[in-house]
Amino acid sequence: MLQQFDVRNKDLIVSINGELIHRDQGALSVFDSVVQGGDAVWEGLRLYRQGIVCLSDHLNRLQESAHTLAFQNIPTNNEIKEALKKTLNANNMTDGVHIRLTLTRGVKITSGMDPRLNQAGCTLIIVPEFKAPVYDNEKGIRVITSSQRRNNPQFLDSKIHHNNLLNNILAKIESNVAGVDAALMLDENGFAAELNGTNIFMIKDQVIYTPHTHSCLPGITRKHIINLCHQNNLLVVEKNISLAELYNADFVFCTGTMGELTAIVELDGRIIKKENGAPSFYKLVALFEQSLDKVCEPI
Ligand code: PMP
Repeated sequence: MLQQFDVRNKDLIVSINGELIHRDQGALSVFDSVVQGGDAVWEGLRLYRQGIVCLSDHLNRLQESAHTLAFQNIPTNNEIKEALKKTLNANNMTDGVHIRLTLTRGVKITSGMDPRLNQAGCTLIIVPEFKAPVYDNEKGIRVITSSQRRNNPQFLDSKIHHNNLLNNILAKIESNVAGVDAALMLDENGFAAELNGTNIFMIKDQVIYTPHTHSCLPGITRKHIINLCHQNNLLVVEKNISLAELYNADFVFCTGTMGELTAIVELDGRIIKKENGAPSFYKLVALFEQSLDKVCEPI
């Protein structure tokens, strides 16, 4: 699965600190912290005709990540919403859009790691693109287990949604070399953490399981699915999950804004059985689609 260029995005207007500019002219300072140290936080958002899915949750996670990294002069949620609205309007976008929202520590007065060199406030970058969910939910994806471990709070807390995703990128390279769609990353104890860009769930005997968030991003889609389970009397349990449990599950799937809910049909060459878990999975897919009216926030 390799994303392709979509001609509808040829003349996109992007926003850098409120300035609306053609995608080819959008220039960032060479002194910006994201260039110098990957020193930035980000969110992926999805716009449907009803609004942006779980927008408040995404903005709150962005605020928490920026606060954890001690960014100064962080724009408020209302200021970010205003910038999002202007950017979407400039592109006449109302549906079927993915938005990459990045907040950097800002421009430095001189090269250097020290955040005291950042005296201009944060840089807010908004890149909206026409883009359907990237995975084919029906066909599903093939996955391998990566040798790259996902960070935990002992090193770099996975709860910060930052731009230093190099170990996830190394994991993705392993999956490319293996000719599959994504890589499963384990935690420091060898339990499943998450895929390189999505959270993981499994179904066994009609119970839905997902790893704790010690070593994965607490995904907004993950939280949404857990809420839907609670509201619809589907038993969902957070626990350590080993590879043997995944290989023998009744269904395995991943969740994320980029692919929503996607079946994992093969893991490390083992075909994941689907028959027994399929009713629960497709029920969740239907519940997710029905919930969009409620969780999309108009902009
Ligand atoms: N894990 C990682 C590493 C991610 O980058 C993402 C998407 N940003 C996710 C999981 C899924 O998170 P969400 O459901 O909030 O899109």
